[in-house]
Amino acid sequence: MRIAHLLTARLPVLRAMQRSYGLDVSAALLRTRGYVDGQWISAASDFPVLDPATGEEVARVSDCGPGEAMRAVDAAHRAFHGWKQRTGKERGAILRRWFELMVQNKDELATLITVECGKPLAEAAGEVSYSASFLEWFSEEARRTYGDVVPSPGRDRRILLLKQPVGVASLITPWNFPSAMITRKAAAALAAGCTVVVKPAEDTPLSALALAELAAQAGVPAGVFNVVPCSKEKTPSVGEVLCTDPLVQKISFTGSTATGKVLLKLAADTVKRVSMELGGHAPFIVFDSADVDRAVASAMASKFRNSGQTCVCGNRFLVQSGIHDCFVEKLAVAMDKELRLGHGLDPTTTQGPLINARAVEKVEKQVLDAVARGARVVRGGRRLQGSFMEPTLLEGVTMEMLCTQEETFGPVLPVIRFDSEEEALAIANASAVGLAGYFFSQDPGQLWRVAEALEVGMVGVNEGLLSCPEGLFGGVKQSGQGREGSKYGIDEYLEVKYVCWGGLGP
Ligand code: ADP
Repeated sequence: MRIAHLLTARLPVLRAMQRSYGLDVSAALLRTRGYVDGQWISAASDFPVLDPATGEEVARVSDCGPGEAMRAVDAAHRAFHGWKQRTGKERGAILRRWFELMVQNKDELATLITVECGKPLAEAAGEVSYSASFLEWFSEEARRTYGDVVPSPGRDRRILLLKQPVGVASLITPWNFPSAMITRKAAAALAAGCTVVVKPAEDTPLSALALAELAAQAGVPAGVFNVVPCSKEKTPSVGEVLCTDPLVQKISFTGSTATGKVLLKLAADTVKRVSMELGGHAPFIVFDSADVDRAVASAMASKFRNSGQTCVCGNRFLVQSGIHDCFVEKLAVAMDKELRLGHGLDPTTTQGPLINARAVEKVEKQVLDAVARGARVVRGGRRLQGSFMEPTLLEGVTMEMLCTQEETFGPVLPVIRFDSEEEALAIANASAVGLAGYFFSQDPGQLWRVAEALEVGMVGVNEGLLSCPEGLFGGVKQSGQGREGSKYGIDEYLEVKYVCWGGLGP
């Protein structure tokens, strides 16, 4: 009955939006309360979820506070003992069912992503597949948490190294991939035998709650996967519980470097294990020998996916003098041809809005600063109504400009001209962060040199999109610590215990 009430509360808004774009998708996964210990729980108040394209309220969600966060941590702690006792195969089977349910409900999950985060529906569907792929991958990895039997220095003992789950994990996630940033963490954690409390971003709680509904349908036991949505105002107090409660053993965070530092400080008092996937400032280098069409297509995909709101997107485009004019010219043509601003539910849209007004203000400030310091606007440059920003191409960009010093998180592509490989590497590595980096070249010696020299955690060689569950995700320097995805991702949720077995004979 409770659920029926929730659906009728906001369903008309969602329905009206779908109708206006000719969509026919059910809203059976729309949930608006927190999910704790297998129950949908309400809080003393609620907060609005806005469609970033229109500013219209699409749902009101329970505004969980520290009390609900503590309940969730307690529930996760109680559930941990049972969950870790299950075999990896049993946990994997449940994750596999969750994966299948995501695939079956792809259209509806994609609609929720578009409605709360603004990205075009086709991209949202891509995110659902990407998100589900972590459940599939870690459903398989759950059976492979091998330890070691180590040759012993004494004949009467044996040395065993066992992998065991760390315990309750707090997962704090951002709005730019409202679904995938949760499964990339939760799938690894649950496969390892950990239980989790998720705090989704205040802008995008609906995808997290839809995931909780599907987790329940898949048979994830009560208390193993909990979600505490909350407003921006409540975030610090909820975050404090999730990062300081002694029952929490692990924090995994994806978001800005500034917030990551706050959480690291909170984690210090109780010495929690942490994984931090923080901001990037990716160099995207195009050398003279590059296949220019490939470089242009990759730049388009890297920069304009999710309107430039990804932590791995190219942020500084370094283009060698010999190929510079051709690259800029072809890029401008591709932008004219391929980019279309609009509401994400409109199937012709390739560029949705930015997440909120704050985000557009930051991007506009970077463009105005670059222009004031002498950059030339080749395309775009203007902030539009609401949270929309024109896709923008700048040339003549120099290292004094804001856009080369801080992450943009918007559809601005600044081109910096360079002459030598040394110069490009010096610029690329002159950053306090190092998440992703890309370069385009057909010179074999250069391919090795530059791949090894870039101070980043992930390198795209003649490739602008690199994320997949088989590959890993993570950065160096102030881009964070720890790795997600790949065979290494599960280690973030495992301890290695040394067992020394003695008295085994002469
Ligand atoms: P942005 O500035 O793009 O919103 P953030 O790094 O602040 O990026 O947000 C990423 C996630 O971190 C979101 O879920 C947000 O609510 C959360 N967050 C922000 N501040 C805190 C905090 N003090 N404690 C816990 N979580 C936080």
